[in-house]
Formats: sequence, structure tokens, C-alpha cells
Amino acid sequence: MSRQQAERLDAEDPLAGFRQRFYFGEPPVIYMDANSLGRMPLQAKTRVEQLLTNEWGDRLVEAWHDWIDLPARLGTKIAPMIGARDGEVIVGDSTSVNLYKLGMAACDSRRTRSRILTDEGNFPSDLYVLQAIASQRGLELLTVPEPSDAVGAIDDSVALVSFSHVNYKTGQRFDMEAITAEAHRHGALMLWDLCHSVGAMPIDLSGCAVDMAVGCTYKYLNGGPGAPSFLYVNERHHRSLRQPIWGWFGQKDQFAMSKEYLPADGIASWLVGTPPVISMAAMEAGLDITIEAGLDAIRRKSETITDALIGWADEMLVGLGIELATPRDPARRGSHVALRHPDAFRISQALIAQGVLPDFREPDVIRLGLSPVYTSYAETFSAIEHLANTLSDRGYLDLPIQRTRVT
Ligand SMILES: *Cc1c(COP(=O)(O)O)cnc(C)c1O
Repeated sequence: MSRQQAERLDAEDPLAGFRQRFYFGEPPVIYMDANSLGRMPLQAKTRVEQLLTNEWGDRLVEAWHDWIDLPARLGTKIAPMIGARDGEVIVGDSTSVNLYKLGMAACDSRRTRSRILTDEGNFPSDLYVLQAIASQRGLELLTVPEPSDAVGAIDDSVALVSFSHVNYKTGQRFDMEAITAEAHRHGALMLWDLCHSVGAMPIDLSGCAVDMAVGCTYKYLNGGPGAPSFLYVNERHHRSLRQPIWGWFGQKDQFAMSKEYLPADGIASWLVGTPPVISMAAMEAGLDITIEAGLDAIRRKSETITDALIGWADEMLVGLGIELATPRDPARRGSHVALRHPDAFRISQALIAQGVLPDFREPDVIRLGLSPVYTSYAETFSAIEHLANTLSDRGYLDLPIQRTRVT
């Protein structure tokens, strides 16, 4: 019954054709980890091979005439996906480093204020970076249980508010507009981390009057392992925020080789050093697929496919000790569904052994991340079927409980 429903949903899926733009091994794994590392677009392979041979290989340093614009050119491609204007987004460095640059600049622009606000459930790297900024600037880092608790917690002592738009563990999505407005009401700057929402839904940074944002390109944007992140600064802050890491790519006239640092105009001042050109070539293939599919269609499928998954989980996992950790209201979630079980680690290991790749997050969460551009309904149904069988036959109880270096 449900498998037929999955097949029917696949047959009616307007994005079904995008699946063949991605690499699938033989036999294909049932991939439920789109929110950790997106699948490889076939075009990424072609583009990287072309770069290695024709650009690095044949042209060597001369190819820098083309590569030098990559951070801005890719930023221009990402801008419409997040409701940014051209010239407000640039690509380079990791999310953590970009968060540091923006957070530091924000606190330095609000010197009379002594606090930074985030939430306890924020991604660990975000928490560490904010701890570092607080420690280096002698500020206090306050936490609320979750972003929606910001209302009432922000006062005029807060310089910076920083949250993730979609929680990496539970998949909960927060109200960007209302929370940003609350930060502004108290004169604080708002910095959003879009890692778990960009590429999975339209985002409107301009419409929400957001000050700053960062986001990954290797999750729902399918940019490839280690692809650099992007950074957004609302143009109203281009003159007032000062990037704290001064490198030659952020210099006004980079090749004049002057001894004094003078920041470039606009978003280019947020660059630091040489961009990872090979990663950027791979990333562009992922961005192009998202642009072509369109974020409205992507979001529609994301809601439908996560709904279908929750429906199948309700039906097939009943009485098996699983608890849904993601909101049932699609408006309040991103594109992954989190299930809790006390033995989540060993269950995930048992699924991996069956060719189903979920991901495990400490201490008890199994995340199932669905990409509207390549995850099929049939594959999602199979994942729940494997999970149901694994829970019923309890074979996972024979597996070791110690964690591997990467989980
Ligand atoms: C994935 C993720 C990151 C990753 O940061 P990197 O510096 O790119 O490794 C940061 N923040 C959030 C919320 C994430 O989900």
C-alpha cells in the first residue's frame, strides 16, 4: 500500500528528472544524509576534470585571470537564493571562519554593549566561535534554550544575536523575521546561520532586514566535501562593519602589493586569502542545479517528502521505541526529520551495513536528510522499511557501542 503510494508520488514528482543529474554507484545506497553532504552532481566531475586539464594543466598561473572572480561570481549565483542583492554575498573560507569574521565585526561595531546571545542547541562550531569572540573581547555569552526564546531575552546590553535558521539536530525552523525584528528593537545586530536551510527553501534576508548571514554549500547545495561557505552582509553595513582578518584578497588594490592594509570596497573586503579554486569549480555544478530546479519547487517537494516520511514512520514504527523530534507542522521544519531512540547509534550502524545511510547525532538522534533534487519517495519509503525491520529484529544489539572518529 505505502510502497505504491511512494511510487505514485515519484511518478507525479515535477523534480524527479533532476535525480539523473547526480552520480549513483552500483548498487546505489539509500542516501538519507543530504543535510550532511549532498550527492555529487555529474557536472561537478566534468567541470573539475576540465579545470584540472585545461586550466591548471594547460594555462597554469594565466588561468588566475578567470579564477580571481570566482568568490564574487559564485556569491552572485547564491544571492537570489537567500533574498540578497547583488554585491551582498561572497564565497570563501569555512562557515566557522566566516562566522568569526562577522561576529567579531558586529561586536566591534557595538563597543558599548557587553553581551552576545545564542541558543544552547546551536551547532557546536557556532557555539565555540561565539565563545572565542566573547573571550577575546571580554564579553559575556548568554544562551537561551532555543531561538524562539529570544523574545524577552534581548536587552540593550546585547551587541550580537546569532542563531541557526534550522536546528542541525531537530530540524526545527525558526521565525527569521520576528527574531530579527526583536534583535533590532534593542539595537543588536542579527547574524543567521543558514547551513541547514540554504538550498532547501527560499530565504528572504532582505525582506527580514537581516544584518549578516553565513551558510554551507556542501549540504543542500551539493557543493562537495570541503566546499567553502558563503557570507552575507546587508549593504547598509558595508561601511560600518570592519572585517577583522586582514589579508591580501580583502585589500583594495591587491596586486599593488602595498605595505599598508586598506580594505576593498563592498563585500570583497570580507575575503582573506587565496580561494580554493578546485572546490569552487565543483560547487558551481551544485548551485546550477538548485537554480534550475527553483527553490519554490524545491521547498514544495521538501514539505511533501518529509510529510510522507513522517506518515510512514507513524505507520511502520509504531510501538518500536521511536519518537519524532521534528515538528509535524511543515512550516516549522527544514528538510530533515529527526527520530529519537536510546540506541540510535547502533541502529544507525545496522542501517549502514544494509546500504542505508542515515546520520547519527549524539546522544540519541537519527537524522534523515532528504534532498528534493535527488531523493526519491521510493528510497525514503525503503529507508523506513529497513528501519522498521532493524528495530523489530533487534540485530543491532550485537553491534559495538563505541563511536568511530566520524559520526
Ligand atoms: C554544517 C554546519 C557548520 C559547518 O561549519 P564549517 O566551518 O563549514 O565546518 C556550521 N554551522 C552549522 C549550523 C552547520 O550545520
